[in-house]
Amino acid sequence: MDVFSLRNELIDGYSAFARSFTHIGADDIRSQVDQAFASGRYWPQPLIQINPRFKPGKSIAEHVAASELHPGTQRIFQAGGEPLRLHRHQSEAIALARAGHSYVVTTGTGSGKSLCFFIPIVDAILRAKAEDPTPRTRAIVIYPMNALANSQLEELQKFLPGLTPPVTFARYTGQEREEVREQIRANPPDILLTNFMMLELLLTRQDALDREVIDHCADLRFLVLDELHTYRGRQGADVALLVRRVRQRLNAERLQCIGTSATMASEGSQEEKNRVVAEVAAKLFDAAIEPGDVITETLERATDPTRTADSVATELTEAITAGGFERLADAQLRGHPLAIWVETTLGLDFRDGKPVRAKPLTVDEAAVALATTSGLDREYCLTALQAFLLAAALPERERMPGRSDSPNPFFAFKLHQFLSGAATAYVTLEPPGTRAVVLEGQQYLPGSEDLKRLYPTYFCRDCGQEYHGVRQRVEGGAPVLLPRDIDDVTAIKDEDAADADSEGEQTGFFLVGPGDADFTFTGDLEDYPESWLETGAANTPRLKKTYRKLKAVPLRAAPDGVLGQGVPGYFLPGKFRFCLRCRAVHSVQGKDTNRLASLSAEGRSSATTVITTATLEWMQQQAGFAPHTRKLLAFTDNRQDAALQAGHFNDFIFVSLIRSAFFGALDAAPQGVADADLGERMVRALGFDRPIPPQADPSQTHLAEWLQERLDHFDMT
Ligand SMILES: [Zn+2]
Repeated sequence: MDVFSLRNELIDGYSAFARSFTHIGADDIRSQVDQAFASGRYWPQPLIQINPRFKPGKSIAEHVAASELHPGTQRIFQAGGEPLRLHRHQSEAIALARAGHSYVVTTGTGSGKSLCFFIPIVDAILRAKAEDPTPRTRAIVIYPMNALANSQLEELQKFLPGLTPPVTFARYTGQEREEVREQIRANPPDILLTNFMMLELLLTRQDALDREVIDHCADLRFLVLDELHTYRGRQGADVALLVRRVRQRLNAERLQCIGTSATMASEGSQEEKNRVVAEVAAKLFDAAIEPGDVITETLERATDPTRTADSVATELTEAITAGGFERLADAQLRGHPLAIWVETTLGLDFRDGKPVRAKPLTVDEAAVALATTSGLDREYCLTALQAFLLAAALPERERMPGRSDSPNPFFAFKLHQFLSGAATAYVTLEPPGTRAVVLEGQQYLPGSEDLKRLYPTYFCRDCGQEYHGVRQRVEGGAPVLLPRDIDDVTAIKDEDAADADSEGEQTGFFLVGPGDADFTFTGDLEDYPESWLETGAANTPRLKKTYRKLKAVPLRAAPDGVLGQGVPGYFLPGKFRFCLRCRAVHSVQGKDTNRLASLSAEGRSSATTVITTATLEWMQQQAGFAPHTRKLLAFTDNRQDAALQAGHFNDFIFVSLIRSAFFGALDAAPQGVADADLGERMVRALGFDRPIPPQADPSQTHLAEWLQERLDHFDMT
């Protein structure tokens, strides 16, 4: 899978979409905005992160042989029929737990954090049950989110399958139905997975079920707080008190507390970081946790540890130009100069001689660094680097088909791509061609000797004419125009919002102009919409009473906003009702944001839909992907977001299909389509008129039926 091509396709799709809404008429503003988009400001180069290798610890079998784990753990913790081989930090956790310590695991993503507490807990439970088999709950694991508890439950089911595993576990959250809770009451699980709100409820609610579930936890041995760093501020205080109540209520004299956490301190040496983590955890758990009880990851080199980017510098040019990375064996990669360069530049840093994760570089930064060291062309290095990373991410069995069966990639890597929507352009009140365009929201033009205000700028959706959001008021005795966000209409008094408020402030828009020859508005009555005019006394036309206050007021405004000098233009009081350039007229109902566009008009839902669609489309074109692997996994902050997005997907697909049917129908009929035939022709364009063959794929027929229903609903057939 070429993730770099996916990235490019995705950005192309997203940028075309993001830019499709806003037409900017003014050349000088458009070229500056174009530059910002072209520079990748809203979708910077992706960051490369190489998955590090963890230094191995003992295998479960070795721990058992050394009497450091109960023999039963060997049958439970297996992978592919073999006892698990642990990472160094997992073995360290076993030792700390065995010594009775409370501890914190702060290893990185993909490091197998949860085994750092599940192996010791399962070990302790097996030993305890051998002495006293009375069913009771010996460990409580608290997750900040149910989603994490759910994924952990699946992980546990992998190791402890079946109805009567040697160590039992259950989830008790707000999601469990009554009969599941009854089962937990009747058969207390060895390990209880929950969230802190539910544990709080279990301790405080007084119904018999809750009390029994908690009573079964008496003399609790382990309390695990997953994602410790999420408990900050008030929530941190709540959880700290909860831990103390658990200890007291359950008479948990032998309680061992375990936390997992992302790094809590980014400054200082490893020792200082560990000290900060230990202090926070000791406070939260009310337990003795020393810096030595903080477990960090120990990394090791995948390539030859005696060599670094510097020592292979002279061999790089030849190694890069030779190419053929996709046919190298792991043993060759180990000594390959480019592999060594990649690992010691992109993958690892060295602190006190020990390898730690490197700060990720962008693809471009990496290519520049490689070009500098090798003396080769930057573009050439970029292509070679991408080819190398893709090859090294393959397992050896794919690089050496028939000669290796190793399923592990040499270097797996991640590409992190950030995307942000463009927001608003801010422009100074100066003549076109000399005015400044700034894309960060701020009050004044930075770096300017004179005070120049920046005005949020919006573009007519019909013709692209720019309008500045303003409020007009008197300051220090002088009338000024101050910047105003398009949504900021707090001063509205009536629907038109054209009147001044009690402090004499009036909101509206300012147009700098006339500008070019195409701009013909002069302020004469005949330049206004016909519907705004009436015939007055002596048969002369005049503005109707309701529109008089919407009359465009000719003004001059200086860069600091002071009126009476500076660029000429028109102030349009109140809501945006009339474009002075294209003469588009808008009614009093509706929002200004539907008439005037900022730089990007799309919301988060459509952005997500476009990114998703681009990804799925790309996958469909990849012949090498089995259909069942063409999947996309997305995460969101909360379920409301997910629900909203799901609806958006449906509507998007539906509208896209209708539109493509419309287009298809017209495209197939160059002579035109009568409106009475349109529905049938659209059905034909979608292919719904084709008979369904006997062995048809039902998902195809379902899709057709679903759409048919909708079409009926909209009365289009
Ligand atoms: Zn217009």
